[in-house]
Amino acid sequence: MGIIIDGKKISQDIKDNLKKKILSIEEGKRKPGLAVLIVGDDPASKIYIKAKKKSCEYIGINSFEFNLSREISEEKILEIIDKLNFDEKVDGILVQLPLPKHINQEIVINRISSYKDVDCFTKINIGNLFYGFDGLKPCTPNGCIRLLKEYNIEISGKFCVIVGRSNIVGKPLSIMLTENNATVCLVHSKTLNLKTICKTADILISAVGKKNMITDDMVKQGSVIIDVGINRDEDGNITGDVDYKNVEKIAGYITPVPGSVGPMTIAMLMENTFYAYLNKK
Ligand code: NDP
Repeated sequence: MGIIIDGKKISQDIKDNLKKKILSIEEGKRKPGLAVLIVGDDPASKIYIKAKKKSCEYIGINSFEFNLSREISEEKILEIIDKLNFDEKVDGILVQLPLPKHINQEIVINRISSYKDVDCFTKINIGNLFYGFDGLKPCTPNGCIRLLKEYNIEISGKFCVIVGRSNIVGKPLSIMLTENNATVCLVHSKTLNLKTICKTADILISAVGKKNMITDDMVKQGSVIIDVGINRDEDGNITGDVDYKNVEKIAGYITPVPGSVGPMTIAMLMENTFYAYLNKK
């Protein structure tokens, strides 16, 4: 049986630590602030926003929510972002994705000041990550790395396979693991011999969005399995990409879904907001 990586506990410790730091901010001094823009009423987005808001309240970060109509124009969103970029009370700006089709996501995201881009989605911050400069780190990849580090799992020299090459998970994670001296292989839907490659991984990370994508015959005995995927099964329950019941028997370490990478993503967002606040000061 693999050791369960308890991201819930680690993320709670991170939030408690931030809460202490924010409590120690001198009376009368400004607390960190996070602005969240949500366009339309996508139910999944609403759930994520609720969880982020709850974490802000717990830690003591002021959250400013902008619930915008699905019909809002791109111009109007850019106007709101421009104002928030100059708003002294706001350290972080987050635009909940996906955006409706008539809005150009790339233009909207890149309008956010790189100093306030707590999701680390802008070209500037991704460029900084690429060059290994200090700064804001993308939340989900950073959460995965933190989980490994908290469990003292050696990354250096290890063969890491990431399944999924999206701009928000797979690609930035490949850069961050490389920075940590791993040998990285990024695989995707066009990869040949996917099973064979996965089976050679010391650390296997799945970010696909398909239930039971990773089965026990794709996993090396004793390897580390990080499941980023969030899917719904037939009964509406949340599951990851990994066939947990069977893979757990072979893995050395494994993350459950829900309760590992998800809470870490939010904890990293809170850390980024605090980092942006300190940076501004
Ligand atoms: P995307 O849809 O943007 O990317 C999915 C990736 O999976 C693509 O690169 C795609 O390949 C690859 N893929 C699809 N099918 C296969 C296949 N059969 N074999 C190999 N690769 C395949 O997803 P995201 O990166 O945005 O999200 C991935 C999952 O992670 C989702 O379930 C999402 O909900 C979850 N997620 C969880 C977070 C958390 O905090 N826990 C945060 C962000 C996402 P190709 O490029 O060739 O199409």
